[in-house]
Amino acid sequence: MVKNLEEFFSERAQGMKVSEIRELLKLTNKPGIISFAGGLPDPELFPAEKIEEICTDVLAKYKKHALQYSATEGIMPLREALVDHMKRTSPCDFDVNNIIITSGSQQALDLVSKIFVNPGDYVVTGAPTYLGGIGAIRAYEARFKSVALDEHGMKPDVLRTTLDELEKKGIRPKFIYVVPSFQNPMGVTLPEDRRKEIAEIAIERDLLILEDTPYCELKFTDQENYKDIYFYAPENTIHMGTFSKILAPGLRVAWVLAPEEVINKIVLAKQGADLCTAAFPQYIAFEYMRRGYIYNHIEEIRKVYGEKRDTMIEAMKKYFPEGVKWTEPKGGMFLWVTLPEGCDTVRMFERALKRNVAYVIGKAFYVEDDGKNAMRLNFTHSTLEEIEEGIKRLAETIREEMKLSGCLKAGNSMMAF
Ligand code: PMP
Repeated sequence: MVKNLEEFFSERAQGMKVSEIRELLKLTNKPGIISFAGGLPDPELFPAEKIEEICTDVLAKYKKHALQYSATEGIMPLREALVDHMKRTSPCDFDVNNIIITSGSQQALDLVSKIFVNPGDYVVTGAPTYLGGIGAIRAYEARFKSVALDEHGMKPDVLRTTLDELEKKGIRPKFIYVVPSFQNPMGVTLPEDRRKEIAEIAIERDLLILEDTPYCELKFTDQENYKDIYFYAPENTIHMGTFSKILAPGLRVAWVLAPEEVINKIVLAKQGADLCTAAFPQYIAFEYMRRGYIYNHIEEIRKVYGEKRDTMIEAMKKYFPEGVKWTEPKGGMFLWVTLPEGCDTVRMFERALKRNVAYVIGKAFYVEDDGKNAMRLNFTHSTLEEIEEGIKRLAETIREEMKLSGCLKAGNSMMAF
């Protein structure tokens, strides 16, 4: 090994630290644990037989393209299919030139940060927000300004105040990162009026929005129909979508819909990263859409995840002590639990592991020091029986924590928001 290897690393790499949270997450993999920690889809729902059928056909029909290097922008049939798909919710004027396929939307987060963020630049984000989003943006040495979320996501008036504060200091943020539907980690969704207003703010102030929508299709009722922010501000929005939660994350197929100049820059950045997105999984995603499998599959996912969410909420009502609150998401994969002030979900974590149950500490989703008494629970990966048992174990751990921090009251009734 080279001596003093640390000195060889770039300042950027030196700034990349092993996160305390990732280390905690590693502990949740121990056998026998009921983990509400990972952000994993239900593997029982992966459509393996359909994928097998498609793979055989793709190899027979498109072998020469599917196994070859391909255009950095992605394969044309998939981009065309995505234009149609996106026009269902964003019926505005865009075409294939506004779309690039990426290796997961995680890569899109990285590439967007790469093309926009200089060290020290500001990015505005909801608080709490997606941990992997913070990580990708932070890797380019961004600074953050956060906007606290309520039970309907980002509040436009608070966003305005935050932008005013930055403007007073002469700071123009590079983008505003928003997860509008069934957000990770809170499960909250921006209503239509807030989407419109956030778009208007971006247009008025000539700013960019980074709209991240991995969960938007996973709605549990037919009422949850929203337009993308992109629809209201197509010139100001970089929209990201992914097949990870509606097909399989192992395929790593996602897309960005954005103004053409942005797409062209992402293409250049992507050529340095991986030349092109793997063509084979793109053909699988394309055929999955072309054969019409996708919409039936989404229906099935909605039904199963809706039932799992209900089971978790019922169990929380039954077992959690008074004073514990939670969100009741109308879609997606996560809900957010808040313990009374004074409780500490980091301190409680080890005791939860001893009881063989795991969650993600709330602190992980904040860029500032916050979320001490909160946690994120995933309700999609465990079985219904595991959810019931896991919540029971978590309730015991919470009771203990509330006793320790002196905030356990008598009774067992619930408050939910
Ligand atoms: N954005 C959000 C909000 C997420 O929750 C995730 C993954 N859980 C991603 C992006 C990354 O998804 P993928 O790379 O699998 O498309």
